[in-house]
Amino acid sequence: MASSAKLLIKNNLVVLADSSQILDFATALLAALLSLDFSSIFCYPLLMKESIIRTISIKLDVNGHEAILQATQARFNEAASWIASICWHEHITNTNTAHHRVYRETRSRFGLGSQLAICARAKAVEAVKATRKKEQERKPYQKPFTCPEFGPRGSVRYDERSFSLKSLDRVSLLTLDGRITCRMILGKRQHDMLIDPTWQIGGADLVWKRGTYYLNITQHKDRPEEMDTSDTIGIDLGIVNLATDSTGETFSGAHVHTVRMRYHKRRQELQRVGTHSAKRRLKKMSGREERFQKDVNHKISRTLVRKAVISRKALALEDLTGIQDRVTVRRENRYERHSWAFYQLRCFIAYKAAWASVPVRFVDPRNTSRTCSNCGHCDKANRQSQATFLCQQCGFCLNADVNAAINISRVPVKVPLATSVRG
Ligand SMILES: [Zn+2]
Repeated sequence: MASSAKLLIKNNLVVLADSSQILDFATALLAALLSLDFSSIFCYPLLMKESIIRTISIKLDVNGHEAILQATQARFNEAASWIASICWHEHITNTNTAHHRVYRETRSRFGLGSQLAICARAKAVEAVKATRKKEQERKPYQKPFTCPEFGPRGSVRYDERSFSLKSLDRVSLLTLDGRITCRMILGKRQHDMLIDPTWQIGGADLVWKRGTYYLNITQHKDRPEEMDTSDTIGIDLGIVNLATDSTGETFSGAHVHTVRMRYHKRRQELQRVGTHSAKRRLKKMSGREERFQKDVNHKISRTLVRKAVISRKALALEDLTGIQDRVTVRRENRYERHSWAFYQLRCFIAYKAAWASVPVRFVDPRNTSRTCSNCGHCDKANRQSQATFLCQQCGFCLNADVNAAINISRVPVKVPLATSVRG
C-alpha cells in the first residue's frame, strides 16, 4: 500500500504552495491515501498556489555502500521515531519549537550530523502533523491514531545541503560516515526530466524497496499561467460510467467492474485458505489491483485533459466539499463506496490540468443529475433509471450521465475557488 500510494506522485506532478512544503505535501498526501478516507483529502486547496512539483524516482547503484546506507537509514529512522514521540506527547507541531526542543539531543543521542538531525526532525514533525490532522477528522468507528513510528528500513530525507548531484549520473549522499557517491541509473525520460532547466531541484528521499535503493528527487517550478477561456467541459463521475463528459464521451466502468469482481472472488478464496502463503498472495494481489485502477485513472485523466487543451476549454468537476454532511442520499453513497478510486481520478485530472494550463472548476453538484439540460426543469422523476434521463416537462431524452455532465459544465462558480475546493 505504502509503495503504491507513493507512486501516485512519482514521475508525475502535483501542485502546491511553495517549495518548502514539497515534502510536507508528499507526506500529507501519502497519509491521506493510506487512510483511504475521503474527508482527510486535501489536495485541491494546494492547486490554488503558485508552484508545481514533480518527483523523479531514480534507481541507485550503491555498489560497496550498502552497509553504511543501511546503518544511516536505521539510525535516521530511530532518531525520527524518537523525535516524533517527543512532539506527539508534548503536543508540538511547530517546526521551530520542535527544533529547539530536540536538535541537540538528537545529535548527542543518535550521533547524527547536523544536516541529518534537521532532516530527521523534518520527517518526524510532518508525520506528527499529518497524524494529528487525521485524528481530528477521525470517524467514530475508526480507532484513535497513535504516534507515528518509523522502521529501520524507512526512507531517509535529504535536503539541498545533504545531497548533491555531482555529474549527470552521480549523486553525493550524506551518511553517518561522511559523504558517499552513488551512481544513478537513469532512463532517457528521467535524464530529460533531470536536466530540464525550467525545473529546480529541491530535496530528495532515499527509499529502500525490496533490496534496491531509489532516490526520489523532487523538482519544482512556477505554475504555468492558466489559459484564459470561458468554455467548459463538464465531467460527471460515476460507477456505471467512471467518467462522462459534456461532449458525450463516456468511460465505461464495465471492465473495471469485471476485474474488481474477479479480484474480489479470488480474495475471498484466499481469505478462506488463510495460510501464510495465501496471505502473501493476498498482499501481492492488492498491489496489482491498485496498479490496475491507477492505470485506468491515468488513461481517463490524460484523455480528458488532452481534450480540454485541444478545444481550449476549462474542466469542471463536482465539488464534493461537505458531501457527507448532506442528507440527500444515493449520490453520496456511490462516492463513498469507491472513494479512493474517485479521489485518485480527481487528483490525476487536477494535476494534469495544472501542468497543461487548463483551469479546473469545482462546482456545486446539487441537482446536476435531476435537472434537464435542455429546459432547466428540475425534478427527481426526470431521472428515469440509472442510464436514462427523460424530462417531465419538455420530453428531452438523453443519457443521464451526459445530461449531468452538461449541467456541470454550466454551473457558475459562485465562490472563489480557494475557499470552495477541498476534495
Ligand atoms: Zn426539459
